[in-house]
Amino acid sequence: MHVNSSIARMKESATLAVSARAAALKAEGVDVVGFGVGEPDFDTPVAIKEAAIRAIQSGRTKYEATPGTVEARKAIAAKLQGENGIPVQWQQVSITCGAKHAVAMSLQLLLEPGRGDEVILPTPAWVSYKPLIELAGGRCVEVAGGIQHGYRVTAEQVEAAMTPRTVAILLNSPSNPCGIAYPADELRAIAEVIAAHPGVAVLSDEIYEKLIYPEVTPGLAHWSPGSDPRLADRTITVNGLSKAYAMTGWRLGYVASPANGGAWMKEFIKLQGQQTNNVSSFAMPAIVEALANGAAEVERMRQSFAARAILVHRRLQSMPRLSTVPSNGAFYSFPDVSRCMGLSTPRGRRIDGAQSFAEALLDEHAVAVVPGEDFGECARRNIRISFACSEAQIEKGLSRLGEFVTSLR
Ligand code: PMP
Ligand code: GLU
Repeated sequence: MHVNSSIARMKESATLAVSARAAALKAEGVDVVGFGVGEPDFDTPVAIKEAAIRAIQSGRTKYEATPGTVEARKAIAAKLQGENGIPVQWQQVSITCGAKHAVAMSLQLLLEPGRGDEVILPTPAWVSYKPLIELAGGRCVEVAGGIQHGYRVTAEQVEAAMTPRTVAILLNSPSNPCGIAYPADELRAIAEVIAAHPGVAVLSDEIYEKLIYPEVTPGLAHWSPGSDPRLADRTITVNGLSKAYAMTGWRLGYVASPANGGAWMKEFIKLQGQQTNNVSSFAMPAIVEALANGAAEVERMRQSFAARAILVHRRLQSMPRLSTVPSNGAFYSFPDVSRCMGLSTPRGRRIDGAQSFAEALLDEHAVAVVPGEDFGECARRNIRISFACSEAQIEKGLSRLGEFVTSLR
């Protein structure tokens, strides 16, 4: 049977592949420490669960409007206006099957296959962006943020990457996999460059917005490009409940844009209506509950992640052959393991890239990390550690990692 060639060429998600491999080893009884998938270890706050349970028991089990209920869309629009300063009306909001599908559909809508459309992607970047850009018919233009600059790209680099074919830039602060948030003034400098290129749209993935650690970088705060008056009407803001509210399995993301006077989101909703229609009906009151009353729970989890970020950096810093940037956002650390290249494990496995490093670490020390290759060309010698797990697991996994790197010869 035929397989579409673009899909055949596409790589599978490395993050999901690592988590599947770690789960399979666990099922075989191996004591694996899972630093693979980026998923909070906390449970969804009780009040949010109860809102959904009440909804399902009262019969909220039928189709809803494709973009979600008016009440849930109004709650999201109010959040985006009030917290982020983004001028969107509730009609310009749609609730999607995870932020992932919001990104996928946004790219499909923005890009014209066969026209040579380019999307600027600051890297290292989340594994799904490049395949989704390419699937939508675009060309991914990677702009590398080096470790020397804390994995952040500069406004000058963005300017240099602009061409007449640039259709969009994809921003993700705080960043997966780098575990860093851009200082607002650096993002504003990038916004300044984009403002000078009127044909360029901004796709801003703000899924880790709530996970920022001024405990690590004093004064650090989130800033949304869609709040810049010069960019507002060409910015698509993507966010969701997965990370902030520990709701990954619920598959709840959202997207909002005032572009084309609201007409852009009408087209988005038309596409969504043909692809998935609405997300689960009984999730709608849970979204309203999360946004209205979830702040204290979010803050409690944020504080735990901040403490873990500090612990992880302290432990990694003391290890030989690794270089890191302190994590001040999301729940990732992205050490550079270049100095392990060319060495071998005591069992004779040679390390020649992040992939072989991660494989040897899993097979010989039962620690799952994601190899850097799929996060960008510049990330071939990095590994991603997701510290969305208990401090005891972090201590155990990092002790094993330390033994592993020290044992290489
Ligand atoms: N964007 C980024 C940067 C992510 O790390 C993830 C991880 N799942 C997503 C989007 C998608 O999140 P979800 O589909 O669970 O909302
Ligand atoms: N975004 C998370 C990660 O990077 C979840 C898995 C995925 O969807 O990629 O691990």
